[in-house]
Formats: sequence, C-alpha cells, structure tokens
Amino acid sequence: MTHSIAVHGGAGLIRRHALSPAREQEARDALHEALQAGDRVLAAGGDAVEAVLRAVCVLEDAPVFNAGRGAVFAADGTIRMDAAVMSGADRSAGAVGAVQRLRHPIRAADLVRRTTPHVLLVGADAEERVVAAGAERCTDEELFVQERWDHFVRARAEGRVALDHDLDDAEPKGTVGAVARDAHGHVAAATSTGGLANKHPARVGDTPIVGAGTWAWDHTCAVSATGHGEAMMRCCAAARVSALMELAGLDLAAATARVVHEELPLLGGTGGLIAVDARTGRIALPFNSGGMYRGSLDTEGNLHIAIW
Ligand code: ASP
Repeated sequence: MTHSIAVHGGAGLIRRHALSPAREQEARDALHEALQAGDRVLAAGGDAVEAVLRAVCVLEDAPVFNAGRGAVFAADGTIRMDAAVMSGADRSAGAVGAVQRLRHPIRAADLVRRTTPHVLLVGADAEERVVAAGAERCTDEELFVQERWDHFVRARAEGRVALDHDLDDAEPKGTVGAVARDAHGHVAAATSTGGLANKHPARVGDTPIVGAGTWAWDHTCAVSATGHGEAMMRCCAAARVSALMELAGLDLAAATARVVHEELPLLGGTGGLIAVDARTGRIALPFNSGGMYRGSLDTEGNLHIAIW
C-alpha cells in the first residue's frame, strides 16, 4: 500500500523581493526535513498520526515559520499558540488554543487527544493540564525571534491584524501543518500556529478548530489549512473538503479547488490547504494567495517543494 505525506509552512502574499535567497533556502530545508521526519515513520510501517506529529515538530522548531519558536505576537506582546491533531482512523482529535510557553504545541494537542475526554483546551489551564501529562515547557525567550517582534511593532503601529506572510517588507514566515496517509490506509492531519500578528490575545483561529483548520477521516481525506482563520472557520474549510468528497462525489483535487478557489474567496478568505486522499494517497496543495510554502513526498520517493 502506498504512503504519502505533505507539509505546509503557511500561505500569504510571500513577495519574492521580501525573501532573501538564504531565507528561502532555510524554509525549503525545513520543509524537506519535516517531510523526511514524517516519511521515516511511514516507511517503517508507522502510524499517520505519529508521522504528522514528527513533521510538525520539525517545523515548530524552525524559526523561519510562525509556530513554536518564531511564533508571532498578540496585541499585548505575548506569544499565544494554537494547534490541533486529528486521526482519521477513529476521528479522535486534540487541540490547544491560546497557549504560552510550550515547546511543541502540537505534542500538547496530542496529549489532549490521548489523555483527556476533551477535544480543545485553552489558555493557562490547558498549559497546566498538558504539562502534567508530559508536555515540555519552555520560556518566552526560547520562542522569541527578534524579527517577529519587529513585525509586531510595525503591525501594531499600523493598527493591523495580519497574516505574517502579508507583512510585505519583512522576511515572511507562516503557520505549519502536515497531512499523511500511512501504509495501513489511515490518514491524519496536524496544524500549529502563532496565529495572526497583533491579534487579540484571547483570539483563537481556525487551526485548533476541528473541521475548520484541521480534519482527518479515513473515509475521505486529511486536511490542514493556512490563511485567514476567520474565513476558514466560517467556511468549515477542512471538513468542507471532506463533505464535498463524501456527499457530492468530488475527487480530492476538485473538492480542494472548489473550497480554495470558489468558496473561501466569497468570504474574503486568503490562503490554502494541503490534503491527502485516504483511498489513493494522492495529494492536493491548492492556494489562492501569492504563495504557500509547501512540500510532498510519496512512496516512490517523489519529492516536491515549492513556494510560488
Ligand atoms: N490560519 C492561521 C490563523 O488564522 C494563520 C495562518 O495560517 O497563517 O490563526
């Protein structure tokens, strides 16, 4: 049976002139490393959930992306992160919202999935609960990236709440995610983000909302979204792809294209998503923004990494 994995590092304007060759290489290398981390699990016959968790951990550690280390700042100058993981086999899901000082929010989300009767825990009480279950604490300084802070200061001065990739005169960064299909035919999705620069500190985006930013079901597909979270939520973007496959009989390419190119724009939503077909392992990576950091790797070793 075939296995495959795809990752993203966020969508947005991503102006070419704003991206230095060194930074572009750093982003491409991180995407490649994330694909390899997930692929190692899949190639050994491992589980799709563990594959997407490993891939997202790599991207959370990469300061070039807006998740974990390098996450953007909320309006009060704090770093507040959202993350979710979902297993397509049993549709178990775990998520955290507006959490601080956790090294790998995606691992925290998985602890919610595995060790609580809940799906989404938010804020300081969520941190306490996942740390008690084994999540790794870190300091604000360990997540801090100077350039993120400079973006925030500018967004605040301009009174903007922005996708970090849209802050055009800066080096872009973005939300991260992964979807995978394992050799047993199970799919999974994971997404992690610092959210929007200068967001309200209590704002939670689409990323940890099951069905909006993250979705997996063995019957259809697994999806991880990136872009304006409010539009993703109003569209139920990730679950909408699944519903179009299940109920309207669309294939993965047609379902993702419809959501990204027809439905999201009606809500003013800029962004994209990565998705894997549970039946075939085929991947779709559509976006309606200037670019989306993305990559995929399949059983045959076909590697694809692109930004524009
Ligand atoms: N979707 C994320 C949010 O709204 C942002 C992003 O994808 O960059 O929180």
